[in-house]
Amino acid sequence: MMIIHGGRVLRPATFDAEPLDVIVDGDTIADLVAPASVRGEGARRVDASGKLLIPGLVNGHTHAQVTLARGVFDRYTLELYLNAMAWTGGRRTLEDKYVAAAVGAAELVRKGCTAAYDMFAEFPLPTAEGIDAVARAYRDVGMRVTIAPMIADRSFYQAIPGLLDMLPDDLRDAVLKIEYAPHSQTVAACRTIVQSWTWDRDCVRPALGPTIPHHCSDEFLVACRDLAAELDVGIQMHVAESKLQAIVGQRRYGKSLVAHLDALGLLGPHFCASHAIWIDADDRSRLARAGASIAHNPGSNFKLGSGMADLRRLLDSGLNVALGTDGCASSDNLNPYEAMRLASFVSRVGDHPVERWVSSREALHAATEGGARALGFERIGRIAPGYKADIVFIDLAALHYVPCNDVANQLVFCEDGTGVESVMIGGRLVLDHGRFTTIDPLKLRKQAEEAVARLSAQTREGRALSERLAPLVGRYCSGLAAEPHHVHQLWNSTGKPLAANEIKW
Ligand SMILES: [Zn+2]
Repeated sequence: MMIIHGGRVLRPATFDAEPLDVIVDGDTIADLVAPASVRGEGARRVDASGKLLIPGLVNGHTHAQVTLARGVFDRYTLELYLNAMAWTGGRRTLEDKYVAAAVGAAELVRKGCTAAYDMFAEFPLPTAEGIDAVARAYRDVGMRVTIAPMIADRSFYQAIPGLLDMLPDDLRDAVLKIEYAPHSQTVAACRTIVQSWTWDRDCVRPALGPTIPHHCSDEFLVACRDLAAELDVGIQMHVAESKLQAIVGQRRYGKSLVAHLDALGLLGPHFCASHAIWIDADDRSRLARAGASIAHNPGSNFKLGSGMADLRRLLDSGLNVALGTDGCASSDNLNPYEAMRLASFVSRVGDHPVERWVSSREALHAATEGGARALGFERIGRIAPGYKADIVFIDLAALHYVPCNDVANQLVFCEDGTGVESVMIGGRLVLDHGRFTTIDPLKLRKQAEEAVARLSAQTREGRALSERLAPLVGRYCSGLAAEPHHVHQLWNSTGKPLAANEIKW
């Protein structure tokens, strides 16, 4: 038994703090008791004097494969980023995959996050060894994770109608070599990965990540739906992240992306839509009726200029909402406090009555219990008996708590991660007074720097190709997204994409 004594505990629902001692039994919170009311002879005692104890934050959406590509882009849209994916996440050895995931997990823990939903990508299809490397990294750091292999059976170039046709021959030939495995192979690989899962699902859970609706054939999506149901795992997808995606969805399916996924039977309580920016009231009610979750990533939406999900409307629809950082190529830090702060602040932009603004307590709920539900972990996200002992120790002597007037407001509006002193996950202090007890950050840094030096040489050709493509892809995609009426001219009457010289702009 362990007694965490002397701290103030953030209570669920009210998000006020109360002086309480936390009794931990193994990896679980056994009780919350009045200060110093339990002596606990022989129990381990952890001093939390001057500390605010909050549940570990949950990151609803990230990508381990791009941690080593942190900071490489500035003014990139989502489409420009997808055009660069072959080199930002490619040519990774198993060790590179491990190191990237470990660096990301370590940053998250350092910033008070104890669980993440990681859509981890490998090309041309996921491998058991790659997923295992990522699982090992999270395990070694000591963090919980739901890992969804990010999968597709169409490349970005194949997924956007007309894009291949407008490329010069040499570039078209080059991008046609970027191919995903046929969906039957990918689904078989995912089946093997999930069926042979040896990780403790209380810590490392499997899921499926068909990346973007129109990057997946309908047969593929249906196979993912069936596999997820059969193996009882969740599904996370990027849904309507950019305006272009929403337009392509309408053109391809004659309905919204959400309506398309609904028609295919993908939506359900185990479904988590990441971003969900370009959706309408009908989409929201479809997602809500299905009991689905949304992972809202305001930092990524800002950086990529994707637009911004309307969190108030998502909440009003009754949807479960998690907050995410997205991966390091699109956000570029992994800071769940920033996600809360931005989620709350951006809801105030525009002409909304103050009652429509997202409050600090709503942001905290999304970053804790909302995230827990989206990830499929049942007993994380609050400090309460029966919940896992995933507890972040916040130093109330940090200047942004001086004075401490309202802990919920200050956690969301003032905290930037620097107040995180210690992090306990499953009753184990993974970060103890700012020092990791599980991994050696200096060694990780050295490994990451060596990997990046090697990869920058190995991916030079891929990078050069994506840089040649970038102006063409950028112009084409922004043209397609600019005015909906342009889109009507990209297909002939039978739905066949028009060639570049047939498109009327
Ligand atoms: Zn993403």
